[in-house]
Amino acid sequence: RAKAEGRGNVQIFAPSMEREVMRRRDLEVDLRRALAEGELTIYYQPQFAVDGEVVVGFEALVRWLQPERGIVSPGEFVPIAEQTGLITELDMWVLRNACAQARDWGGVKLAVNLSPVDFRRRDLDQQVKQILDETGFPADRLEIEITENLLFGNQPEAFASLAALRRMGIRVALDDFGSGYSSLGYIRRFRVDTIKIDRSFTQNIGQSDDAAAIIDCVVRLARALAITVTAEGVETREQLRYLQSVGCHHVQGFLLAGPVPLGSIDRYLERAVSAAAPPVRTRVRL
Ligand code: C2E
Ligand code: MG
Ligand code: MG
Ligand code: MG
Repeated sequence: RAKAEGRGNVQIFAPSMEREVMRRRDLEVDLRRALAEGELTIYYQPQFAVDGEVVVGFEALVRWLQPERGIVSPGEFVPIAEQTGLITELDMWVLRNACAQARDWGGVKLAVNLSPVDFRRRDLDQQVKQILDETGFPADRLEIEITENLLFGNQPEAFASLAALRRMGIRVALDDFGSGYSSLGYIRRFRVDTIKIDRSFTQNIGQSDDAAAIIDCVVRLARALAITVTAEGVETREQLRYLQSVGCHHVQGFLLAGPVPLGSIDRYLERAVSAAAPPVRTRVRL
């Protein structure tokens, strides 16, 4: 039939679009099964004080161990889970399992990513509270990572849930800061605890004076507001040295450690400090 109706360009584009739709549908079906059958797992990426030695927390990052495809990264399936609404089930699964696994990690901070879609549920804070109760994980060791999109979306129920989570003692980090519609107004309004500078800035240190100037500026601003700054995507010594020189608090990136499976976490736990400890005093040579 396509042949009868079609002009050349229709015939060129239609099959690939169809393939894309089918690929998504397959992935959605597979992802539902993955959740049900335990194909998901959690990797943990250590977060360091800017000295690059002391571990100040771990970020939980979901992984899908697919029998046929191997490890699938969240960049591929999180957007699809968001479109199908499966994301909240997935995020609550990650939260529950990460809290259970990290409970005995000597008081260190656990960071968990939540999707803006999760905040469409009015009872999100109740769900989180229930998971903390079930797992016995203390609220003051949990940091949730949200993106600017959530704040930009201006959903009233999202604001209410965020406030309720903060009242429970949970910290809030603004992830990928600078990659979207950042607004200083939002930072003031929400009093986020942490800003995570997007890795696109970190990776331009030494390449672009603008990126370096923006990081310097964000760190000054955050310090003035008593907000912690974490730089994401630190891959080189040069980047680390620059972040030390401008007074960034925490760093995360392949230079120091990538995400590791639960079984490899001990060597980082040995270097970890409790979330309740006073800020790490780092000895940094500039
Ligand atoms: P994110 O929260 O900004 O996490 C940081 C991502 O950067 C991770 O990718 C991490 O592996 C990667 N990364 C860390 N250090 C470096 C580095 O030095 N260089 C480079 N190039 N990359 C680095 P990952 O694990 O593939 O996750 C991608 C994104 O997927 C996350 O970005 C987050 O937005 C989302 N995500 C991961 N797990 C979850 C989850 O459980 N729930 C939700 N809703 N989203 C998740
Ligand atoms: Mg994150
Ligand atoms: Mg990020
Ligand atoms: Mg990201």
